[in-house]
Amino acid sequence: MSFSLEIKRELSRLDEQDVCCKKSELAGLIRAGISLRTYKGKPRLLFITENASLSRHIYSRVKKFYRDSPDVFMLKTRRFRTHTLYHLEFTHLMGDTVHNILDDMGIILRGKGEDLKYNNYTIDNRCCKRAYLRGGFLATGSISDPDRSYHLEITFPDILLADEYMNYLKDFGIEPKQIIRKGHYLVYLKEGQEIVDFLNVIGAHKALMKLENIRIIKDMRNQVNRIVNCETANLEKTVNAALRQVDNIKLIAKTRGLDSLPDNLREIAGLRLENPDVSLSELGQMLNPVLSKSGVNHRLRKIDNIADKIRSEDKI
Ligand SMILES: [Zn+2]
Repeated sequence: MSFSLEIKRELSRLDEQDVCCKKSELAGLIRAGISLRTYKGKPRLLFITENASLSRHIYSRVKKFYRDSPDVFMLKTRRFRTHTLYHLEFTHLMGDTVHNILDDMGIILRGKGEDLKYNNYTIDNRCCKRAYLRGGFLATGSISDPDRSYHLEITFPDILLADEYMNYLKDFGIEPKQIIRKGHYLVYLKEGQEIVDFLNVIGAHKALMKLENIRIIKDMRNQVNRIVNCETANLEKTVNAALRQVDNIKLIAKTRGLDSLPDNLREIAGLRLENPDVSLSELGQMLNPVLSKSGVNHRLRKIDNIADKIRSEDKI
C-alpha cells in the first residue's frame, strides 16, 4: 500500500471531532475535490476517488448533514494497471439539495451548470481549520514514499482555493510553496520537518510516527556514511604516504645506497621497507629506543627530501 493511501485510510477512520469540525472537513473535501464534467451535453457534479474508505466517509457525512446522499458508482479502469475508481455523483441533487450543499461549501454553480466559482470559506476555530486542511489532503493530496524522498502536495482547481489553503497552513507555522501544473494549482511541501508538522496538524498521528522513524533511520545512515567516508579518506592518505616512502627508499638504495644515509634514517628506512603497511606510531614502537609518531614522521620527511634531491640532480 502506498504511503498516501495509508494516511488517507487513517484519516477517513478518524472520528473524534465536533460537529463544527466535521462540517469544515467536508467543506475541505468538496471544495478541493468536486469537479464539473459534461456528459452527453449535461453537466455532472462528481467527486472521484480511488479510495473506498474515503468514498464511504464522504457518503455518510453528506447523508448525515443533508439527509440526502450522492450516488456511488464503481468503475474499473485498465490504464497502466487495473484499479477501481469510485464516482460520487451529486448531479441528481442538482436541484435544491445540491445548491444547499454548494452554498454551505462556498461554491457557486453558475448558469445551468457552466462552471464552478468559489467564495472564500471563512473559518474561525483552530480545530475547524485543522479539519478543513485534512479534508483538502483527503480529496486531492498525495505524499511520496518517505523511504525515497520527501514530497507532499495538494492540488486545487482554482487559485483562490490554493491561496486560502496556504493561508490556513500558515496559521500553523507551515510555509508551503505553490506552482501551476496542467491548469491546476499545486500547494506543496518538500522538507521532512514540514511534512511531519503537516501530518500533526491534520491528525495523521500513526503516519507521523512512521515518517519520524524513517527520518531517524535515514539520519543515522547518513551519519554512518559520513564516518565511513572520513575513515576511508584517512586510510587512503596513510596508504599513499607509505607507498611514496617505500618508493623513495628504493630510489635511494638504487642510486646512492642506503649506507649513504645517517644511522637514524637508515634504521627507519629498513623498517619501512620490511613493513610497508604499518602506521607511523607502529614503526616508532619498533625502534629502540621507541620513537614518537612525529619523530618517525620527521625522519621519513628527511628521506623524502633526499629522494627529491636525487631526482632533481640525477634527472630521474
Ligand atoms: Zn471545530
